[in-house]
Amino acid sequence: MTHANAVTCLGGEQTTLQPFDTPAPGPGELLLDLRVVGFCGTDMFKLVTGAAAPGTVLGHEIVGEVAAIGPGVEGFAPGDRVAVPHHVPCGECALCRRGAETMCDTFRENLLFPGGFADRILVRPRATAQAAQKLPDHVSDEAAVFLEPGACVLRSVHKGELPREGGLAVVQGGGSMGLLHLLIIRAALPGTKVLVVDPVAERMELAVSLGAAAAAPPGEAAQAAVGELSEGLGADAVFDTVGGAGPLRAALTLSRQGGTVVLFAHAGPDEPADFPINDLFKFERRIVGAYSGALGEQREVFDLLRSGALDPTPLVTHRLPLDRFAEGVELVRQRKALKVLYTPSNGKDRD
Ligand SMILES: [Zn+2]
Ligand SMILES: [Zn+2]
Repeated sequence: MTHANAVTCLGGEQTTLQPFDTPAPGPGELLLDLRVVGFCGTDMFKLVTGAAAPGTVLGHEIVGEVAAIGPGVEGFAPGDRVAVPHHVPCGECALCRRGAETMCDTFRENLLFPGGFADRILVRPRATAQAAQKLPDHVSDEAAVFLEPGACVLRSVHKGELPREGGLAVVQGGGSMGLLHLLIIRAALPGTKVLVVDPVAERMELAVSLGAAAAAPPGEAAQAAVGELSEGLGADAVFDTVGGAGPLRAALTLSRQGGTVVLFAHAGPDEPADFPINDLFKFERRIVGAYSGALGEQREVFDLLRSGALDPTPLVTHRLPLDRFAEGVELVRQRKALKVLYTPSNGKDRD
């Protein structure tokens, strides 16, 4: 048993940093010392909606250093740097066999204990065996921490079914997930032009500096930019990282006939959609959801990170110790931060 700090939910948005008992690794498990953990939109959603039960430790985008290995673990040694996602599908059920791995019942089980916002994290056997990646020296913590969110985005990009060459993708929202879409599309499908739609000038500038063909505020300017970039055709795929009925309508307007809208964000609880059904039927459009990333996407993103084709590190704007958790949440809420990474707590209490 080790004693280490974790950011623990108290109900609603309240959290506290408190010591947590983490057992020694059992068969097939890894015990990690935290190096960095990313703050994700889903963490924000769970805090804001009060979906996190008291006692929960959120956080799931982690890079750690192996502190101890359980019996039977192969391929890892103390001191190795490791990135590991918290969700891994079973690979065998009816949904997994149909390619809907992220809908697998087993997938939603959290394989990180107590959670990512903790100085010490136990990695469960299925994640250790199938998903944990030992990091080569040239892959930094700041890049590797994008393994999990990168896999989610890559699944979204796959669902967009962009052409191999010459396609136009629109990304609605220039926050960290929107810009990660931009970087991953540019890495995986370099022949694709990307337009980023966001009302904030700074974010539009950043998008262009990160490889967007153009950036525009929502509305007529976005419509005009799509027309220009596609010779009037419309976008092959629109990725909505904003969420809700309004952005969905806008996405449909920007998509070409026969094109795809991929939903990559929470809408309000029970918020209904509102768009002309004939926009789908008569013009063969598709609206698809993308939830999380499966093993294939996790591995593919790791390859992009390892080869250097994907460098998400410009998205990291803040690094704070876990002691300053609430400060990071506030920075994201006020849109003063893109990606916030937390580092181990200052008052590390270990024995
Ligand atoms: Zn996430
Ligand atoms: Zn399954």
